[in-house]
Amino acid sequence: MTTNIAEPINSVLRFARMLPVVHLIGEIINLLVKWFTERRELALNCTTTLCPNSGEKKLRNRLEDAARMNVVKVNNAQFNVLDGDMEGLVDLTNNSCSCRKFQLEQLPCKHIVTVCLFLNINVYSKASWYYTWKTWMDAYSDSIYPVQPHGMWDIPEDVRSRVMLPPMARVM
Ligand SMILES: [Zn+2]
Repeated sequence: MTTNIAEPINSVLRFARMLPVVHLIGEIINLLVKWFTERRELALNCTTTLCPNSGEKKLRNRLEDAARMNVVKVNNAQFNVLDGDMEGLVDLTNNSCSCRKFQLEQLPCKHIVTVCLFLNINVYSKASWYYTWKTWMDAYSDSIYPVQPHGMWDIPEDVRSRVMLPPMARVM
């Protein structure tokens, strides 16, 4: 999972990797500033309740699926949703579904969506705050500032006095 993000960064920094480490860090900061700005602008222009790709699109597809399903009320808290290929037993007391998708994603599965429509509950209220527009905005709300020129750095004396030697590496 962590190598997935490293690959695009490596490809973007292909030429910068040849630079001295201070300049490389400057290039990485510039890249992050650019990415944060782009994502902040996207989030600012978002008009949906959930993030468009991660939450809203999935939930709208499930709303379409829910229109073709039937609900059998087992009791006041449990509902069996019949969808042809895979039934789902929804339990509203612990917000779970037997298909386990809701517990895994924290985004209503098609069975939960169907029960929400059946009971006239706002389906967005069942989605985790992770998927909301507000969380998206918060993720990119902080600013990244460029590194000051070397002459302006405030370096503590104990760091300044250290002698840095190249690593002890044996050439194979
Ligand atoms: Zn389900």
